[in-house]
Amino acid sequence: MADRQIDTLLLSVGHDLPYLSGYTAMPLERLTMLVVPRDADATMVIPRLEAARVTPQPGVFDLLPWGETEDPTAIVGTLSAGARRIAVGDQMWARFLVELLPHLPDASFTRAVDVVGPLRMSKDDAEIAALAAAGAAVDTIAGELQRGEIPLVGRTEAEVSAHLGRRIIEEGHQRVNFAIVAAGENAASPHHHAGSRVIRENEIVLTDFGGTMDGYCSDTTRCVFTGEIPADVAEAYAVLHEAQAAGVAAATVGTPCQDVDRAARAIIADAGYGEYFIHRTGHGIGLEEHEDPYIVEGNTLPLEAGHAFSVEPGIYVPGSWGMRLEDIAVATADGPRALNNSNHELVSVDA
Ligand code: ZN
Ligand code: ZN
Ligand code: ZN
Repeated sequence: MADRQIDTLLLSVGHDLPYLSGYTAMPLERLTMLVVPRDADATMVIPRLEAARVTPQPGVFDLLPWGETEDPTAIVGTLSAGARRIAVGDQMWARFLVELLPHLPDASFTRAVDVVGPLRMSKDDAEIAALAAAGAAVDTIAGELQRGEIPLVGRTEAEVSAHLGRRIIEEGHQRVNFAIVAAGENAASPHHHAGSRVIRENEIVLTDFGGTMDGYCSDTTRCVFTGEIPADVAEAYAVLHEAQAAGVAAATVGTPCQDVDRAARAIIADAGYGEYFIHRTGHGIGLEEHEDPYIVEGNTLPLEAGHAFSVEPGIYVPGSWGMRLEDIAVATADGPRALNNSNHELVSVDA
């Protein structure tokens, strides 16, 4: 905060608050806010009825419950009095900020990610172990898919998505974050919403799924083919597979994030599919499924040991098919470590 000339940090709903306090605020209209002044003790302003949910952390923050007839933004205003520059969490609701503005007429506002982002990006051993456990759980499900143990042909995308969601919970996650299932031409839309489309024989089925286990997220993408793989699809997939492996291999400590993107993208572009790779190569992952660092052209941030992120190039041919291959990787002093290890091939399934 001193480096960034930030006087006070205000964190509400979102992931910065649990990262610093261990408490996840309910995403409701009643204000919960951790007030962190640079030179004084931190205070968590919390609805009185929620106070019992907080595990007290003496010496970390004080708890200040507010009653139903009080104005919590006035309380935050008082605690922040004199602050000239205030950093707010990305996911704080606009409502809270709008209500705070009149209480802090002399303050300017900036994003808390400047302070909390670098802390959250550098995962410690326990965080990496949590990501690895979540990753191993979704790998188990990917294996079932690839062995034909999850029925596909004749079911709708939505039914397969629900199946994946159930398995995500059974494998130890507390929450399903997404279970994209996209068949055939639908796979050309990277974030396709699984719907009533029935999966047929002889088409690609893209699955991208993950959840949250003990606070940390999983996220993996595997494609299977319901029949014999045609030459054009096999050819494109071989390029994708090589590009994904090159992205992971490039993710060494000190390498700028954009160079990981370039390593994967160059292979796809050189093979003539460049126009069909329509998104960045990856995103950081941790408490949130998408967080810093982003693996994208323009991000010159050098990777540090402990940075965790996806490497997920794709090739999307509108109206025909799409494919993506995604692993979570961690930069370590010993080189890149992939946290997903299910089969990387495009497997032909009888399912
Ligand atoms: Zn995504
Ligand atoms: Zn994904
Ligand atoms: Zn992802």
